Amino acid sequence: MKRVLIFTAGFGEGHNTAARNIRDALELIAEDECQVEVLDLFETCYGRFNELVRKTYLTAINSAPKLWQAFYEIVDNTSAVEGNLILLGKMRRALADLLKDADPDVVVTTFPVYNYLIADIYAGQQKPFSHLTVVTDSISINSIWYKADCDYYLVPNEPTARVLLDNGVPSERLKVFGFPVQTIFAKPEEAPVLPDPAEEKRVLYIINSGKSKAPKIVERLLEIEDIKLTVTVGRSEDLRREIETAVRGHEKRVEIFGWTTRIPQLLMSHHVVISKAGGATTQEAIAARCPMISNQVVPGQEEGNFEVLRMHDVGMLAEKPKEIRDAVLGLFADNATRWRGMRERFKAISIPDSSIRIAHFILQEAVPPNAPNKRLASLTAHRDRKSFDSSAGKKLLLCDLHCHSTFSDGKMTVSELVDFYGQRGFDTLCITDHLADHKTMIGKVVSTTGLVLRYNELGEYFEVLAKERERAMKKYGLLLLTGLEFNKDGYTANSSAHLLGVDLKAPIDPRLEIKELIHEIQKQGGLAIAAHPHRFNNLLNHHTLYLWENQDEYAPLLDAWEIANRNDIFNPVGLKRLPFVANSDLHKPKHIYSWKTMLFCEKNPEAIKECVRRNRDVAITLYRDHRFGYGFGEDAEQRPERELMFPHLHSHAA
Ligand code: ZN
Ligand code: ZN
Repeated sequence: MKRVLIFTAGFGEGHNTAARNIRDALELIAEDECQVEVLDLFETCYGRFNELVRKTYLTAINSAPKLWQAFYEIVDNTSAVEGNLILLGKMRRALADLLKDADPDVVVTTFPVYNYLIADIYAGQQKPFSHLTVVTDSISINSIWYKADCDYYLVPNEPTARVLLDNGVPSERLKVFGFPVQTIFAKPEEAPVLPDPAEEKRVLYIINSGKSKAPKIVERLLEIEDIKLTVTVGRSEDLRREIETAVRGHEKRVEIFGWTTRIPQLLMSHHVVISKAGGATTQEAIAARCPMISNQVVPGQEEGNFEVLRMHDVGMLAEKPKEIRDAVLGLFADNATRWRGMRERFKAISIPDSSIRIAHFILQEAVPPNAPNKRLASLTAHRDRKSFDSSAGKKLLLCDLHCHSTFSDGKMTVSELVDFYGQRGFDTLCITDHLADHKTMIGKVVSTTGLVLRYNELGEYFEVLAKERERAMKKYGLLLLTGLEFNKDGYTANSSAHLLGVDLKAPIDPRLEIKELIHEIQKQGGLAIAAHPHRFNNLLNHHTLYLWENQDEYAPLLDAWEIANRNDIFNPVGLKRLPFVANSDLHKPKHIYSWKTMLFCEKNPEAIKECVRRNRDVAITLYRDHRFGYGFGEDAEQRPERELMFPHLHSHAA
């Protein structure tokens, strides 16, 4: 069984269309021989954030393609790599995981950003799979397509191949297979027969933009005596009514479709299509050898699509209703001489079975002739993975990554916390005392209350925790991590944020901006986690909503969000499919009765952090233990109660 992974992204229409069509072709020709999966990691990793980027992109491509160009240039620019690695870090990890787990024979990318990540993951090593890039744009293609290396570039046409060649891609790695259109184009017998235009002229009008002009265009087209007109109006009922009004009296020679999946069949059974020069439609028109009158060319990628039509003289540009009518008339004049010429010229660029050719190439690449024996290689890979994944070292770990000691407003000292959690069999504890930004007025005020760490106490804090770390492990097998809770409090909930840094190696200046804090935490290898990001049930609590309200900006940067804090559960964190942890935010003993995180991984700081980042094998649990009865009493400062809880401490002291 060959395994093929196709990576795509929903930016613009071409990438997903290409990915789906290649998958369908593989399933058509080799259903029993291969397993094929289409994956959009932008969607998986960034969820709503991705939705936003996509909307921004679609807006940008329609109104300001320069913006998208700028995005490409940023990704392209090595000096900006650091920032982008953080932005794409989550996706890189997901991709690395996937490639390891799925052990594919062939990886196909229809969106170029993946190539950068794959290059980064396998830097200095040989990739254990064939890597093909399907270039979905034509001619005006961005350098991002070929800057990161891969085994083969599959391009839609010769002019695009020439652009890559001119930019240093070796010719033996270029394959012109055509844009992967639907497999139905390879079976023209499944579409209605195209009559000779001398007998009947069939015109297809796909309305996908410029809707206000559409009724006028239809009226103009109907001025041509012997045409049969097919109009697709999409899902808009209003537009359908307008078109119905415009064709009144001509119903016999007009057919109106709503949203339809039969565009390929329509293209194959019409003499000419009027449409904007979108990636998929243009490529489908080429596959169907259907001349195109483009009524809109969006600058950027569509220019490249249209340029292919123009270069081969198989399409024209006509924007105004009258121009469109005249273009149709011109095609059919003198026994349709111009139309017949176009049909002939299409032969040079039309590859109706492109997807099937690509599928065959993929299957062939799945067993490259001079590659190391894949069977052997995959056996080794399997063994490697087994030792990597071996559950021998992994176990279910009970974790609390957010609690406070007497260094800030907690009631227990660091060593009391170690005993408290150690006796309960916890595997990991991160102490995260409050650190306020003393630059702000609010920060200054709380700094004087003694309820937060002062910046100059940080050295001592790190020392004490380092000392306790050894004891915690020796005595209880408890992994103690040093953390901080950065309080970025404003005067309102929407301007307040608490940010956890988990497993820190050195103090961090609390005056930094939140993004800089996240960066500093991650630079030390720590986790940046949004603490209680949503509304508490208790309205008296100080809500900290800044990160949540700005999640589009912060979700790509943060490693995880608290889905639960003590007794509160923040459902939206789960609904948004953000990576989650649950913590007690313990200040006093009774807070142990609260939500906790369970991780299934090895008990060491790196494995634990990686488990949280990847957010796989993670669960939350509501913790109860009855060792000391239910209530600790409201005021845990009462010494007698604490002595009850820590008899060993006090017997030593005595
Ligand atoms: Zn807090
Ligand atoms: Zn806290």
